[in-house]
Amino acid sequence: MRVGGEIVYVAVGANLGDREATFAAVIESFESERDLLLLAASPVYETAPVGPGGQAAYLNAAIELRTWLAPLELLHRLQRIEARLGRDRGPDAVRWGPRRIDLDLLFYGDQCIELPELVVPHPRAHERAFVMLPMAQLAPKFRHPVVGLSVAEIARRQPDKGDVLVWSRPPGWPGNRADVGESREGG
Ligand code: AMP
Repeated sequence: MRVGGEIVYVAVGANLGDREATFAAVIESFESERDLLLLAASPVYETAPVGPGGQAAYLNAAIELRTWLAPLELLHRLQRIEARLGRDRGPDAVRWGPRRIDLDLLFYGDQCIELPELVVPHPRAHERAFVMLPMAQLAPKFRHPVVGLSVAEIARRQPDKGDVLVWSRPPGWPGNRADVGESREGG
């Protein structure tokens, strides 16, 4: 088995089109990417939308990966997967508007990165129940390198956590760690 690399967490969101099919396609995409190994997936949640009114509800989840890509390479890989799965990044795309697929890099190990194109930890992650609740299921003890609290504690403090509801598991979405990647190592 390949060693080294970095553990990273990615938020997955979709509120347009066949959300469950998109989530299944996300898993398939990560399973076929070089230099990325899917380790675990959180349960899937449904969340009322943030941003312009009248949008459909989101499905949200977080996934844990091992990667041998540098941070910017990983961002570009995520953007390529988004493009392949139908994300509209054209000039008319609305910020915080509806989206078929959104992949955000939440954490890259415990690194803090501030580049024009990439900020890690994702600057709004700790304020979003729909990010922190899935993260808390995936890695409750993981310490947010800027906030300095565990993910479980940050999730517990979210005022709107009651608005994020567990959704049934989409077909093709991993059920638990035993279903994916390196879990064979007991990780
Ligand atoms: P969004 O439309 O929310 O997916 O935001 C995408 C934009 O945010 C891109 O232009 C990225 O370069 C930038 N960005 C900055 N930090 C991050 C991050 N941690 N994960 C994903 N996109 C990021």
